Amino acid sequence: MGRRNIIKEFFRAVSNRFSYRIRDNIYIWFGICWGLPIPFVTLFIEVHHLSQLGMPAPVNTALQSPIQWFFIAHPIIFGIVFGVLGTIRLEKDKQLEGVINQLSKLSSLDSLTGLKNRRYFTENFRSECERSGRRNELLFLLFLDLDHFKRVNDQHGHNTGDIVLKDVATLLKRQCRPYDIPVRWGGEEFLILFRTEQPEAAAIFAERIREKIAAGEGMSVNVPITISIGISKYQENDTLETLADRADKALYTAKESGRNCVVSWPPKHSSLKNND
Ligand code: GH3
Ligand code: MG
Ligand code: MG
Repeated sequence: MGRRNIIKEFFRAVSNRFSYRIRDNIYIWFGICWGLPIPFVTLFIEVHHLSQLGMPAPVNTALQSPIQWFFIAHPIIFGIVFGVLGTIRLEKDKQLEGVINQLSKLSSLDSLTGLKNRRYFTENFRSECERSGRRNELLFLLFLDLDHFKRVNDQHGHNTGDIVLKDVATLLKRQCRPYDIPVRWGGEEFLILFRTEQPEAAAIFAERIREKIAAGEGMSVNVPITISIGISKYQENDTLETLADRADKALYTAKESGRNCVVSWPPKHSSLKNND
């Protein structure tokens, strides 16, 4: 930082009201305490010197000297200087904290869809499982994959493909409750961590999403699209890998069954299969 900038910053801090909120600014108190011994020491030295010279009333004489006033003002001067420097530091800390918060928020989001990304999900999976465990809730992982998405790109272009991904993400966000976590897992694949007390709720929820996407709800482009969904239920000691692996197998079964359907793992029947 250039010298001019440092001076500018100093005066900006001087004009910052926070500098004068004495109770909140520990730096001011530090400055005052730092400056406090100075007038006592200088007064002592001058009084000692004056009494050695045989001056009458050396204390009064010393207190009338402008140099001594300057030293008496030292706690205030130090309080102001330290207060201003401390304010600069507090301001910098606040700015830095803001930047760190913003960066950590950005690093957990997928830039195209604004959904949470894979990294966020991987980092928070364990704590989400523990939270559900404490509340005695059932936890389901939904693995969602758009059908024949490569064709969408090939036939309508990559930009339209991106719009479809964003529209699907918006629909997922709208369908999820605040405590469900929709994630863009990568490409045209999404995950939802769904918590519930009713064992059948996850399949009903997934089926609703499938229907809405097949009906083109929330689509801003005229591109027919369907989605296949695999579901697996969290079991004690599951890791993200084991849980996702079962959901992936269910998804594979859904794809094998003709796509545009929901399959729970282990696949039992085809009542939710829908290839209309
Ligand atoms: P399936 O039904 O078996 O899932 O077929 P699919 O075509 O959806 O699957 P495949 O894995 O063959 O292709 C996925 C496509 O998704 C290929 C890739 O170009 C596209 N894709 C991945 N990420 C993006 C993205 O960010 N934007 C766009 N527009 N396309 C993407
Ligand atoms: Mg895929
Ligand atoms: Mg796909």
